Amino acid sequence: MNIAQNWRLADQRYQMVGEECPHCGVKIFPPRDACPNCARPAQELYTFAGKGEVYSYTVVLDPPEGFEGQKPYYVALVKLDEGPMVTAQLTDLEGGPEIGMRVEMVTRKLRTDGEEGIIVYGYKFRPLLLPEK
Ligand SMILES: [Zn+2]
Repeated sequence: MNIAQNWRLADQRYQMVGEECPHCGVKIFPPRDACPNCARPAQELYTFAGKGEVYSYTVVLDPPEGFEGQKPYYVALVKLDEGPMVTAQLTDLEGGPEIGMRVEMVTRKLRTDGEEGIIVYGYKFRPLLLPEK
């Protein structure tokens, strides 16, 4: 992986940067360089607002290695306001999530990797703190 790709991934982790197709206007996340809608090149960066709603969710009772300390937790398919669906862990819930619940992106510790204890951060979604206008 070259440095440019590393920076690109860092952007994806700390703010929700995807792409916007210059041909058909579709918003793309994560970035993939070709539009999933019209298959033409799409490399214009686009920063998502990081808000959307819970489209579906599941509860994880038997998490993969590195996530054991967080169980049980919810993983949701979030439909961003701009269109794309992203899969992410839900956080800061009081009780269970609901389909259609408004959520916003936050940067949180995702897991601790191995004995070196490298902490990986990424995005999760939490219920909106402030009511929307
Ligand atoms: Zn397109």
